[in-house]
Amino acid sequence: MPESGFTLEEIEPRLFSFNSPYGACGSCNGLGKKLAIDVKLIVPDETLSISEGALKPVGSMFRQVHTGYGFLKSAILSLAENCKFSLDVPWKNIDQEVKDMILFGFGKFQGLVSILENQMDYDETLVERYCSVTHCRECTGYRLRKEALTVKIDSKHIGEISGLSIDESLKWSENLPDKLTEQQKQISNKILSEIIKRLTFLKNVGLNYLTLDRESSTLSGGESQRIRLASQIGSGLTGVLYVLDEPSIGLHQCDNDRLIATLKNLRDMGNTVIVVEHDEDTIMAADYAIDIGPGAGVNGGKVVAEGTPDQVQRNSGSITGQYLSGEKKILIPRRRKQATQFIKVINACENNLKNVNVKFPIGNLICVTGISGGGKSSLVIETLYKYSAHKIHHSSARYGQCDRIEGLEYIDKVIEVDQSPIGRTPASNPATYVGMFTHIRNWFAGLSESKARGYNIGRFSFNTRGEGVRLVKVMGT
Ligand SMILES: [Zn+2]
Repeated sequence: MPESGFTLEEIEPRLFSFNSPYGACGSCNGLGKKLAIDVKLIVPDETLSISEGALKPVGSMFRQVHTGYGFLKSAILSLAENCKFSLDVPWKNIDQEVKDMILFGFGKFQGLVSILENQMDYDETLVERYCSVTHCRECTGYRLRKEALTVKIDSKHIGEISGLSIDESLKWSENLPDKLTEQQKQISNKILSEIIKRLTFLKNVGLNYLTLDRESSTLSGGESQRIRLASQIGSGLTGVLYVLDEPSIGLHQCDNDRLIATLKNLRDMGNTVIVVEHDEDTIMAADYAIDIGPGAGVNGGKVVAEGTPDQVQRNSGSITGQYLSGEKKILIPRRRKQATQFIKVINACENNLKNVNVKFPIGNLICVTGISGGGKSSLVIETLYKYSAHKIHHSSARYGQCDRIEGLEYIDKVIEVDQSPIGRTPASNPATYVGMFTHIRNWFAGLSESKARGYNIGRFSFNTRGEGVRLVKVMGT
């Protein structure tokens, strides 16, 4: 007996690929994300009541109603009457059911979200104000069409398996044969052992916390380098010269041993491995070390010491060697600065954070440390920084889940200094970063024409950001 009208065509590998138009979710084109109305931006402050203006697009209803939204007022008023809730209670205390009615509609009323969605085509400022990139509602972020997600192994579809961390998916793959029939075991045997092998490579380079569906653009430099490393171990090549630039970056000390073991494994397969690295354990694990310096820039450029790590240690001319041998040390300060004021993050629960309460002492140098994937960025960047930027600079970017952050009155600005380049071209240089070209530009702009002619100004070109500046010749004649 047919149970539904749903049919599935023949299952092919491309059905499970969001890179193939055949498998990709039609709504988000396989991206899993869409620019859509974000409820958090509609209700930026949940402590306000509706009459105080909790619904930002509607404004505070008893003082001013944004033009065009008058009918919203009457819809909400009648809802308040029917559902017996007050317009004067804070938004966070209203029943979720009622909130959903206001936002997503009831009866003939469309709901605030779809009203805004309809208006977006005419009013671009709405997109800017109330949209953020969120999970596609059609595929709930899994990027594949419905048909692909109905195919399950051990009651999990491919999207759910990709959502597991490498540790978890390794465990899942290892336990899977117990749940299969003899025939299924025979079919899956080879594939499973390949999958397990590759997951183990990833685990061995310290990436056990990553999920398989993690976007490569969100990986740190060290992480993407370690992924490439893991793929090389699998290739089984010999006679290769591998060159790595600080693969230990971002890796916690406790995973370092496994990374070093992986590098030694590559060597033992018959390869040469050159690693540029500051990490002490890696230096000491090397067969041969080369110390370049002694200083930076004009003060560098020489081979200071080379040989086994022991020989480098004994070399008095090598600063690296002096630190390795313990002759030089970074001293621990005897007294530390005390603080009386704090910024307190209350109940942070973004990503993997488990209702974290934490205080940051004002006027201190504070270090947040821990294992990769432990939640450092979720706490500091996603929650603390974005929340503060929202409150202080009215940034519309969404911030991490938390009850509130106290103590922001002690600061008047918040600035994120990250690793992303500010210029669009690789020609950007420190002069751009410190804003020096502004002054040079002003100086040239201030020259009178005759004076300017008096100078032989060579080929001289820059754009407004000072990128790609080429000062070939500037001299008096
Ligand atoms: Zn989708």
